[in-house]
Amino acid sequence: MSERGRQEPLRLRPHHIFCDTFLPQGDLGRGEEFSHALEEIRELARQRAGVTVVVTEGPDQLCEHCPHYGNGRCESPMGDEEKVKRWDAKILAGLGVSYGERFAAGELLALVREKAPLEFCRTRCPWRAFCGVEDSVD
Ligand code: SF4
Repeated sequence: MSERGRQEPLRLRPHHIFCDTFLPQGDLGRGEEFSHALEEIRELARQRAGVTVVVTEGPDQLCEHCPHYGNGRCESPMGDEEKVKRWDAKILAGLGVSYGERFAAGELLALVREKAPLEFCRTRCPWRAFCGVEDSVD
């Protein structure tokens, strides 16, 4: 990411804001470009808690590096754009935030840790066996 890029806000959809905290490091099976983009976002949020994150509706800057992204939408066989938007809406409501809102990354991370796991995580998320959200709470 360029220096100029670093000053721009991160555009992240709700499940990327939320789930990224609990997903394992390393290869998520979406190729090198996706892993690299994910690691850059994680690094930036870790190193600069003040970096702005915009809660984004629909495909975000991480989707743009995903092999399942096509025609401006998520085309994953695990859940296409319509499904993903429904998951995003549940996470949005669970966090109590709105699309277009801006937060410092550190503030958002604290909110995610306060609210996790959501009811959706425990009961409905198709990835729940894969993530560590249940182990993240005492
Ligand atoms: S395109 Fe779909 S599978 Fe890929 S990162 Fe975006 S929401 Fe996830």
